[in-house]
Amino acid sequence: MKKAIYAGSFDPVTLGHLDIIHRAAKLFDTLVVAVLENPNKCSLFTVEERKKHLELVLCKMENVEVASFRGLLADFASEIGATTAVRGLRNAVDFASEYQMYLINRKLGKEMETVFLAADEEHISLSSTNVKEVAVFGGNIDFMVPQEIKPFIIEKYKK
Ligand code: ADP
Repeated sequence: MKKAIYAGSFDPVTLGHLDIIHRAAKLFDTLVVAVLENPNKCSLFTVEERKKHLELVLCKMENVEVASFRGLLADFASEIGATTAVRGLRNAVDFASEYQMYLINRKLGKEMETVFLAADEEHISLSSTNVKEVAVFGGNIDFMVPQEIKPFIIEKYKK
């Protein structure tokens, strides 16, 4: 049974993330989508909120689970028995940083393989940061995030 992990900040989850999740779920028996708890990163949503958004958006996907973790991806992957890390690649900048992470993960978790999925052309310029930059000024984020979580983003910026 092949279990993979797709980790990220998901602050918030975008249509680009969702596309990678749908495609990766077809490649593995189980896909764990894991929210990384990064105390050094200032986030819009709490880890619990981000998990809730992912659960809402992914509830119909039978082989997809949502989790969160602190610390090293290689450690968490081995704890849950995931042998592959899935990463999305939007451009050369992603490639450079993801390749470095891959090399580090190879050293840290020898059992773990990394699979890179190229972003759909519709999503190559989409990031959680872009979503926040548009949402803070009340711009249209319909083409950026799943409809279900749009109200949570709007609500956050009302406060
Ligand atoms: P971001 O870079 O938007 O803050 P994350 O840290 O949550 O996103 O990224 C988790 C993974 O998803 C990374 O492998 C990243 O390259 C990938 N990813 C992010 N946005 C997209 C997108 N629009 N299309 C495909 N993959 C993406």
